[in-house]
Amino acid sequence: MRRWNGWGDDSISDPVPATGAATLARLVGEGTPPPPAALADVVAAIPPGRLPAHPSVVIDAETRLRHGRGQSLPDWLALRTGRPGAVPDGVAFPADGAEVRDLLAYAEVAGARVIPYGGGTSVVGGVTPGDDGAPWLTISLARLAGMRRLDADGLLATFGAGTVGPDVEAVLRARGLTLGHFPQSFEYSTVGGWVATRSSGQQSVGFGRIEALFAGGTLEAPAGTLEMPPHPASAAGPDLRQLVLGSEGRLGIVTEAVLRVAPLPAVEIFPTFFLPDWERALAFTRALARARLPITMIRTSTPAETYTNLALAGHETVLRALRRYLAARGAGPGRCMVLLGLAGPRRLVLVTLAAIAGIAHDFGAVRAPGRLGRQWQAGRFRTPYLRNALWDAGYAVDTLETAVPWSSVDLLARELAPALRAGLAADGERVHAFTHLSHVYPTGSSLYTTFLFRLADDPDVTLARWRRLKALASEAIVRRGGTISHQHGVGTDHAPYLPAEKGILGMEVLADVARRFDPAGRMHPGVLLGDAS
Ligand SMILES: Cc1cc2nc3c(=O)[nH]c(=O)nc-3n(C[C@H](O)[C@H](O)[C@H](O)COP(=O)(O)OP(=O)(O)OC[C@H]3O[C@@H](n4cnc5c(N)ncnc54)[C@H](O)[C@@H]3O)c2cc1C
Repeated sequence: MRRWNGWGDDSISDPVPATGAATLARLVGEGTPPPPAALADVVAAIPPGRLPAHPSVVIDAETRLRHGRGQSLPDWLALRTGRPGAVPDGVAFPADGAEVRDLLAYAEVAGARVIPYGGGTSVVGGVTPGDDGAPWLTISLARLAGMRRLDADGLLATFGAGTVGPDVEAVLRARGLTLGHFPQSFEYSTVGGWVATRSSGQQSVGFGRIEALFAGGTLEAPAGTLEMPPHPASAAGPDLRQLVLGSEGRLGIVTEAVLRVAPLPAVEIFPTFFLPDWERALAFTRALARARLPITMIRTSTPAETYTNLALAGHETVLRALRRYLAARGAGPGRCMVLLGLAGPRRLVLVTLAAIAGIAHDFGAVRAPGRLGRQWQAGRFRTPYLRNALWDAGYAVDTLETAVPWSSVDLLARELAPALRAGLAADGERVHAFTHLSHVYPTGSSLYTTFLFRLADDPDVTLARWRRLKALASEAIVRRGGTISHQHGVGTDHAPYLPAEKGILGMEVLADVARRFDPAGRMHPGVLLGDAS
């Protein structure tokens, strides 16, 4: 069963490897796990819902609790410490567009706010009700799931918005196709959630981000239904799909999406290289991005991230041998790992690999022996489970991300993690922070920073520390002209920083559009536009 207060299925628990635990204790100090709240106690304290009866609206406290929070650090803190805050007054599970329309009409009569809920994997406060005195209805898309239609000639597959990643790939792979969209939250995140947050999969360099894969679909809004036909291309005015992408539920509910799929690649490999230092890793990465080779993924870790990943990987004997091998070839302690993805017909993959080997030689890159890349692929959706084990060991972990032009990548990569590391110095606490470039473009790159610090005895202190770290990183991003989110979206946590990016007129346009789709302001006020009352 899915964990109510952490990540993933509760039958899976991956411990922190002994070497990783020792490394963390050395870097930030020994963690002290806070006592976890019991589900029964938290459920018992939830007040009754305030919505009028409706046959499709579930009002039991546990269902409401399980749909009240996402996966941000404040969400974890709220659930793990048994202080969930506002939860929805009811949760509905419509089975089709007509039921969604009926529920929107019901919300209108009840004066309720509405939150569309996909997989609840938002890390930016995207699925949490506000506390404005109105009743809140969460509409889960869980029953609007599965592939509806497949146009095999046009490579277009229509999915219910609530279809989760593994189900998308299973049905497509059975037909020799793939979407190729693999956010790390793949196990639980949904087609509708991807569209609503403009998500990016790990292999988006090759397959495209969701905005490249979203060909059309249907949005049910309080003001009506918006159909978005999947034209292969169109010069008929501005593209309304771009309004829906990233709308985070503010315009209405995506009920189905037509996605551009691709034939399953004959071959897929994940070669791994190590560069002697960050300067050369960056130059190698930029050269690859500009070479316009058919690469599906470029993921470049700073020395701090390379060190941490190897420490947390376990298998100490194998890693010792790897470190010796790399050091003998010039990639010593300052080494940086660059993980690549290649997919396609066998000959194309081989030709691409040969071209990469040529570029690698120019920068002193060493190809890692063994199956490092294959192991990464096999375990890539298990990494988030580590967050449970780290919490149980007394550590909070969070991530933040942005994208900047190449001219600012190095600057920000050198600024973000050190700023976070010093962020709790006034409290005498250390922070471990490290960065990788997760999605690389010819014009620039995303930066993805993970930070880890000790949980305090008092959850309010932990929350205040997190807020301080989040604010200083967000301010650094905005100062350097980075986007406040390359992939996680805006939610409530990033909303204060959006005006810096969109400008006054841009924010007014977004608010006007939201008002046209949702005249009474029912659709999740607070998210995206930061307009909670
Ligand atoms: C461990 C972990 C790893 C992650 N890795 C990635 C990653 O690699 N790439 C990435 O892009 N993101 C990642 N995320 C963030 C998150 O998974 C994405 O934002 C994802 O797209 C959210 O999908 P969801 O179905 O869970 O949506 P939810 O969390 O349920 O909702 C997110 C937002 O979209 C709205 N929404 C959801 N469904 C609909 C709908 N049908 N119609 C209208 N609005 C809707 C919600 O109201 C909310 O505002 C990660 C999160 C976690 C916890």
